[in-house]
Amino acid sequence: MKAMERTLIGEASQHIGAVVKLRGWVHIRRDHGKLIFIELRDRSGKLQLVVLPDKPAATLVAKEVRSEFLVEVTGLVKERPVKAGQEGVAPAVEIEVDKLIIVGRPEGELPIDVSALDLDLNLETLLNYRTVALRNDKVRAIFEIYSELLAAYDEVMRAGGFVEIKTPKILEAATEGGANFFKIKYFDRDAFLAQSPQFYKQAGMSVFERVFEIGTVFRAEPHFTTRHVNEYTGLDAELGFIDSVEDVMVELEKTMQHMFRRIGERCSAQLGRYEAVVPEAVAIPRIRLSEALQILKKEYNKEVENEDIDGEGERMICEYIKKTSGSDLVFLTHYPAHLRPFYSMPSVDDPKYTETFDLLFRGLEIASGGQRIHSVSQLTASIEKKGLRLDDFKHYIDIFRFGVPPHGGWGLGSERIVQKILNLGSIKEAVLYPRDVKRLAP
Ligand code: ATP
Ligand code: MG
Repeated sequence: MKAMERTLIGEASQHIGAVVKLRGWVHIRRDHGKLIFIELRDRSGKLQLVVLPDKPAATLVAKEVRSEFLVEVTGLVKERPVKAGQEGVAPAVEIEVDKLIIVGRPEGELPIDVSALDLDLNLETLLNYRTVALRNDKVRAIFEIYSELLAAYDEVMRAGGFVEIKTPKILEAATEGGANFFKIKYFDRDAFLAQSPQFYKQAGMSVFERVFEIGTVFRAEPHFTTRHVNEYTGLDAELGFIDSVEDVMVELEKTMQHMFRRIGERCSAQLGRYEAVVPEAVAIPRIRLSEALQILKKEYNKEVENEDIDGEGERMICEYIKKTSGSDLVFLTHYPAHLRPFYSMPSVDDPKYTETFDLLFRGLEIASGGQRIHSVSQLTASIEKKGLRLDDFKHYIDIFRFGVPPHGGWGLGSERIVQKILNLGSIKEAVLYPRDVKRLAP
């Protein structure tokens, strides 16, 4: 006889009146006199098992199980009275257990309460016990949303005619300044971990016109902030034949709205756990950085240094934009050349500024982008003006010798988006196994 196939919890309601086999983790066990209730969890959801006293073998096993035991259960799917207001929220069925088998069990005590509705752990504990903490619904919800974010980025990029590429992360030279590269041993010489896919995605653009990459970015910055980790996942794009940097912002705006929409549609339960909502699809205001700095002075009496905006300034500008336009996002444009990399396109009307932008979301920079220089002569002049060595950029400059269209793109931080959607205290909560100055494990 063929063994009964496993049914997923999410599909159990299609089998009312039938006997099914389920597999999963014991979320929690509750005893009510001689009745034992077990909440069972699998990848598709949770549901209640009822072990009646007239099933002595199953009762004996049920008395042994505790949270996170792995079990296989066979039983009858029964409709469950749904309380008013709980329609569609609580599962409409439960299982009257016939047979219960323990398939696996945790060793010793669990370090944290996986079934807690609100795991109130400090960040260190949360990260030290990461794998088991992730079994908690609220913690896991972060990564269910993250998974949708990645899928949404892929989806909107492909729909826009972008080709997905993967660029090398091991580099021969630490260009672009060099300060924030990790140096590694590479056979008998040194190499560096890529702190941006910039040069290779421009090369990709020169072939495919439009490329995107979802890739690891390494930053050797000794930060102790709530918005930096030393290894993150960048959502990059580069597009050719643009008329101006505005075309890049339009594309990024579309991309953000698509990601927010898809998460809003598919992750309402996960968002609900954080009382979070995705931003409404309103047009993202664009203001020049210089104008933003004037607003900071006028509205918040805040002075800045070096014509630059700091983290506090970014929070204030977002607050101001929210108040005046209702948008959770804002583009700051036209950064001065001294704040931007050498490949940034200078503004024609005033080359002190560049055709670049940052995108801020709920007080935090989530992306930087802009139009890039695409002619060899302008590029070499710009490299020399920054005091960099032309020799270090030979391969990069070569990209532009064979006809490259006007182009631009962005680097968007995936984890910061999730951090801000859910209002998480630290970006590290949105990284599965974060790396920071102190932490290399787990
Ligand atoms: P910041 O000023 O916040 O340090 P940045 O300007 O150095 O960021 P970019 O080089 O512009 O960062 O990188 C593009 C995007 O990648 C950023 O807007 C951000 O979303 C993300 N990002 C950059 N550095 C980090 C980091 N250390 N950890 C997580 N995300 C990062
Ligand atoms: Mg930036």
